[in-house]
Amino acid sequence: MPDSSTPYRGRFAPSPTGPLHLGSLIAALASCLDARAQQGSWLVRMDDLDPPREEPGAADSILQSLRCHALHWDEDILYQSHRSSSYQKALDTLQAKGLLFVCDCPRTQLDANGNCSGGCRCRQTDITGPAALRVRLPKGSIIHFTDQLQGQQTLASGLPINDFVVRRKDDLYAYQLAVVVDDAAQGINHVVRGSDLLDTTAKQVFLQQQLGYPTPAYRHLPVITNSLGQKFSKQTHARPLDNDVAADNLRLALSFLNQPDPPPGPLQPAEILSFAINHWQRDQIPARAAIDAAAIGVT
Ligand code: GLU
Repeated sequence: MPDSSTPYRGRFAPSPTGPLHLGSLIAALASCLDARAQQGSWLVRMDDLDPPREEPGAADSILQSLRCHALHWDEDILYQSHRSSSYQKALDTLQAKGLLFVCDCPRTQLDANGNCSGGCRCRQTDITGPAALRVRLPKGSIIHFTDQLQGQQTLASGLPINDFVVRRKDDLYAYQLAVVVDDAAQGINHVVRGSDLLDTTAKQVFLQQQLGYPTPAYRHLPVITNSLGQKFSKQTHARPLDNDVAADNLRLALSFLNQPDPPPGPLQPAEILSFAINHWQRDQIPARAAIDAAAIGVT
């Protein structure tokens, strides 16, 4: 947990897999308001380390939507695609600590939690073809952290997580590694993001401990779901935000976060933002994993 005298540094870290939608606006807005209400800095980082999943033009379209919603970031944007040497250094540290193993097992040998139950561990020196690098959690390790909204979280090695990928078989650095290296490099001490990432956070805490990085304060927001209970995302065909009705989008996102309603009438996005910063009540955000969009009148 960061010391309360340290200036607040938060961030929004979209993956450029498609345009911003209401779900990603909620995460951007909450992370920005939480930072601004505490006179903190709010950064944007582009999680563009997975080219096969990316959509051309999505990074610029996300940034344009943020601007239209008066979500103006501090400092230069960090692009993960430019950060390979930092990720490699972190891998070297993990390697030197004996925490990595090479895995060329097919997907069919992974269990439901993504642990490798294949035979790669006995063939380490023989593996020469394409292979992932996995971190092994030492037997009996227990990782605790307290999420500021969702409460105490614990991960014990054994079940459900024994190991996880830090560099993929296609040689791309994995999200778990990159997010930890970048949060530390940018001095991020507060992470506000969707609860879909809550389960992976203990892996990140484990990596922070191994790499000697501080652990930020985490606050995982409920995600917005459609009528089928699916999280809004590109895969579930969430509608891209219409930047022409940015003020209405912000009102909806604030209502989802259970924040006071801005005054009625035609306000500009910047006026809504300023009201929301002044009235931000982080303890009013529902401590739930998911909320149906219908609850705020979105169908
Ligand atoms: N890029 C990730 C996503 O869009 C979020 C990463 C994070 O906030 O840690 O789901």
